[in-house]
Amino acid sequence: MLYADVIVDISHENLDRTYQYRIPEHLEAEAVIGSPVCISFGNRHRNITGYIVGLSETPKIEESRIKDIEGRVEKGVVIESRMIVLAHWIKENFGGTMNDSLRTVLSVKKSIKPLEKKTLRLSVDNSTAEEIIAEAERKHHVAKVRLLKELKERKVLNREYATGMLHIPAQTIQKLEQQKIISTIVEELYRTPGQSISKCKERPLLNEEQQFACDTVCMDYRAGKRGIYLLHGVTGSGKTEVYLCVIEEVLKENKQVIVLIPEIALTYQTVRRFEERFGERVAFLHSRLSQGERYDQYRKAKEGKIDIMIGPRSALFTPFERLGLIVIDEEHERSYKSETVPKYHARETAVELAKMTNSSVLLGSATPSLESYQAALEGKYKLLHLTKRAKNARLPEVRIVDLKEELKAKNRSMFSRKLLAAIEARLEKKEQVMLFLNRRGYSGFVSCRSCGTALMCPHCAVSLTLHTHGIQKEEQTLHCHYCGYSVPMPKECPSCGSPYIAAFGTGTQKVEEAVKKQFPSARVLRMDADTTKEKESYERILSQFANEKADILIGTQMIVKGHDFPKVTLVGILAADLSLNVSDYRSAERTFQLLAQAAGRAGRGEHAGEVLIQTYQPEHYSIVTAAKEDYRGFFRQEMAYRELLNYPPKAHILAVLCIGKKEEENEECLSLLAGKAKERVINIDRQNTGKLSVIGPAPAGLSKANDLYRNLVYFKSVSYGILTELASYLEECKEKEERFKRIVLQLDFDPMGSY
Ligand code: ADP
Ligand code: ZN
Ligand code: ZN
Repeated sequence: MLYADVIVDISHENLDRTYQYRIPEHLEAEAVIGSPVCISFGNRHRNITGYIVGLSETPKIEESRIKDIEGRVEKGVVIESRMIVLAHWIKENFGGTMNDSLRTVLSVKKSIKPLEKKTLRLSVDNSTAEEIIAEAERKHHVAKVRLLKELKERKVLNREYATGMLHIPAQTIQKLEQQKIISTIVEELYRTPGQSISKCKERPLLNEEQQFACDTVCMDYRAGKRGIYLLHGVTGSGKTEVYLCVIEEVLKENKQVIVLIPEIALTYQTVRRFEERFGERVAFLHSRLSQGERYDQYRKAKEGKIDIMIGPRSALFTPFERLGLIVIDEEHERSYKSETVPKYHARETAVELAKMTNSSVLLGSATPSLESYQAALEGKYKLLHLTKRAKNARLPEVRIVDLKEELKAKNRSMFSRKLLAAIEARLEKKEQVMLFLNRRGYSGFVSCRSCGTALMCPHCAVSLTLHTHGIQKEEQTLHCHYCGYSVPMPKECPSCGSPYIAAFGTGTQKVEEAVKKQFPSARVLRMDADTTKEKESYERILSQFANEKADILIGTQMIVKGHDFPKVTLVGILAADLSLNVSDYRSAERTFQLLAQAAGRAGRGEHAGEVLIQTYQPEHYSIVTAAKEDYRGFFRQEMAYRELLNYPPKAHILAVLCIGKKEEENEECLSLLAGKAKERVINIDRQNTGKLSVIGPAPAGLSKANDLYRNLVYFKSVSYGILTELASYLEECKEKEERFKRIVLQLDFDPMGSY
């Protein structure tokens, strides 16, 4: 007799445990770890689905109380048991329920009917066909005659053509099939997004540094050694070429490869480079794929039709049977951390998956995360360097412009005099300019100049953002980015009636207006969240700029990632401090990354590049080191700060966010949990070697969203293990308190942003 531990498919903490079911004999062969099954659940015998996560021969409860598994799930996708194990690891290390984790690793939940190509063929020889046609003609079976004559002539016919153009009823086809006169051949097609590109043999000869990096990984690989490699290469140093070479080597060993790329960098340019090298053996995942396309990519992987899957975070869960390598490009990117539960980090998860599958991990970045660089210094990762730009292009000349000086000189525009002069010079020489601003929308917020009231979202504790949909000011609306609330821009202040309400701060739209005013003849493109809402707009703007259909490209973060524009010789960073003034311990790191990446956009071609960083804090270490692309210098100073304040990677943080209707209840709940946590830690860690400290509870930075209050407590410890142990304990404690039933707890380990 066999029993199965089943996790039910309802995402609720109460149900976050396994239940034992008996495996009936006729299902024994199919009931493996990972199978989706139908079960009857609870007292009301509801029919629901679940997943088998364990098998055993002994009943855990009284035999008579164990129910049978009712059947397998039709259309359910069997998750590899490996994925279940990985889901379990994610749950343990990043919180959330097992179901949340299963949903995450299950790239596609329901199978979607594959696209089919059906062709008709004659199953009889020509003379028999002639007889049948003659017979049919006598009987005036016109459709039959038409079809058979056509088939006799052409040998094969597309079924759609037959039913469509030839007007053959499906019944006629069916009947002929039954009589074995014709047959239908069904081919399954894959929905392949994008156009396919033929393989091209041409490839650059690796330079010495690239070759060394590549050899290091490949020689280990051939020797059967697996490792984690951190490829630290300045922007434009040819990291992608190194990935391509290493991937080639891994493919030779008959292994498969997952390549993670930040969604934003998954452009036509990247796609093409991989397709040129690997042709049809590569597939892509991105958020703009249709369900069907997504499913087919997954099916191709599962059926071994492809060897390389490229995509954002979720591509990590590609069901490859022979996984051998995971590449993570721009490994420092915050998008590798999930913003929804489970808030897993793709890098850490990749390392775990590699361990399970005996794969290697290759991380690459011009500005590695502190976590990865520290791991490399500690010898956990192998560090590889690319210090030069691949095409012998020089690194750009970077200058810092002090905006305080501009103010003193009575220049209140958003462009310093140096930047204006530099733009003008480029326009004259017909070279291109990129202007970068780290903020979206028209402006930060709208307020009244008479009474100072800021217009707030009625449901969230945030100010509304102004959006313009056209040139007319009447086409303005106010939006809440948290709950989607929107209203037309009011004509007067809702609290004092003054007509002087206006937008403050700067945004990309405002930059665009100012640029057009200063340089009326310049052709300007803008790329931000507002101009890239449509499916292809992102690509369109980039290719317009690449084809020199514009002189100036203005944008947010989006424009700094991985694009190669040889004609860009000037990059202007308008307000470098904007990302510094965020209450988040990672803000200096983020500023450094953004500046270094943005600076890396200049001078990629034969012309020398120049970068101007405008800032109010010209002496800040993140700005000074970014200007020199001095990663080590930045790392040293930032690490000292993290050590001083016990921030990751020096220590770890568990953020516990409480979301509920009543603020007092949130506070009460968190105080209780904080108290319980301290008690617990005294028990499990008597000497307090984990150095647990508790910060809060306090209202979150975003203290209310969607009419729900948000309160927060942070636990810090040098031991990640203590925090994961604490996390499940706290969830248990909260579950036990009936009065906190309606409060939602969200856990986040080493959070990437502020709450
Ligand atoms: P990164 O990923 O480090 O920013 P890329 O791999 O995109 O750099 O390379 C930058 C540019 O240099 C690309 O146009 C690429 O084709 C080119 N390149 C890379 N390696 C070489 C090489 N060894 N010789 C010539 N060109 C190269
Ligand atoms: Zn809102
Ligand atoms: Zn007012």
